[in-house]
Amino acid sequence: MSTWKTSATYLAKHAVIRAGMEAVALTRAGRFLPNAAGRGVIFTLHHVRPPTEPSFRPNAHLSVTPHFLRQAIETALEAGLVPAHLHDLPRLLADRDDTRRFVSFTLDDGYRDNIEYAAPIFRQFAMPYTIFITRGFIERKRTIWWETAQALLGKVSSFTFDFGSGLERVASATPAQRHHAFARLARFVQAADEDEAVAHIDAAARDNGIDPVAIVDDLVMTGDELRALATDPLFRAGAHTLTHVNLARVDEARLVREIGQSADAVAEWCGYRPESFCYPYGTRDAVSEQTQTAVVDAGFALAVTTRPGVLRTRDPDTPALFPRVSLNGHYQKKRYVEALLSGIPFIG
Ligand SMILES: [Zn+2]
Repeated sequence: MSTWKTSATYLAKHAVIRAGMEAVALTRAGRFLPNAAGRGVIFTLHHVRPPTEPSFRPNAHLSVTPHFLRQAIETALEAGLVPAHLHDLPRLLADRDDTRRFVSFTLDDGYRDNIEYAAPIFRQFAMPYTIFITRGFIERKRTIWWETAQALLGKVSSFTFDFGSGLERVASATPAQRHHAFARLARFVQAADEDEAVAHIDAAARDNGIDPVAIVDDLVMTGDELRALATDPLFRAGAHTLTHVNLARVDEARLVREIGQSADAVAEWCGYRPESFCYPYGTRDAVSEQTQTAVVDAGFALAVTTRPGVLRTRDPDTPALFPRVSLNGHYQKKRYVEALLSGIPFIG
């Protein structure tokens, strides 16, 4: 799960990233900076599904097509990367005699489309993959605020909301208003008590005829579906908390519960303790020293962030801070995958 920007900075940032990746692809700069590619890459995905065209898609970066997933796998294999299970990476990278470059695929949040569209593609290439399970989504006890907000803003031309200084009417009639409203809601979730913020967004959705739990039910796999998927030897489940809350903003007791009880649930559904953990949001302000310690204390082999970067031989020294590279819905081109694999976009 990554972050959302306000529309202006978002578009500007995209233009810069796209130009940078085009430049890397055009000049094949990777030939001149082979060390930039490190020891390979852990890819991050969320949804894998055919393209949809609703009018308002603030979460478009979280969705890639089956075609692009296939392309990304082919590109990694053509580049000579060796498929690896995520949880084996600390051991593989720590072996000083091993200079191979590895690729691991991870998918966050436990979406049902991962089973329908991604799993068959991984099977076709014998590519291992890890899906990070949020227990509260699987059990339908926690809603997905960014999906709820997208559904709400895509439906109504305005809605009432209390951002903390009283009820106000928020306009959502034009694309600019919708993006602005979405950015405000995202900031509200990041600044207010997250449980309360999510409950507020749910209430606004229900007021407008949207059932936030039905969205989860539609998008996320059930416990039975996860149990069936667990028979696939290419698949491993990782833990992704109980409620997908920013772990750097909860107290110690909640932190331990979020980590431990999500691992317990995976063990029950899949028959093994998860060896990998994924921080919700995964950004710098969602991964504190305390959260890293808690993850290590809970016994995970590694934890992944959304800090962008290729793998390095030194990564096993900080097993709670593995970097990942997002396969972003805005950049679904083979040449962008080649640019990412070169490692050059992450220098600096
Ligand atoms: Zn997530």
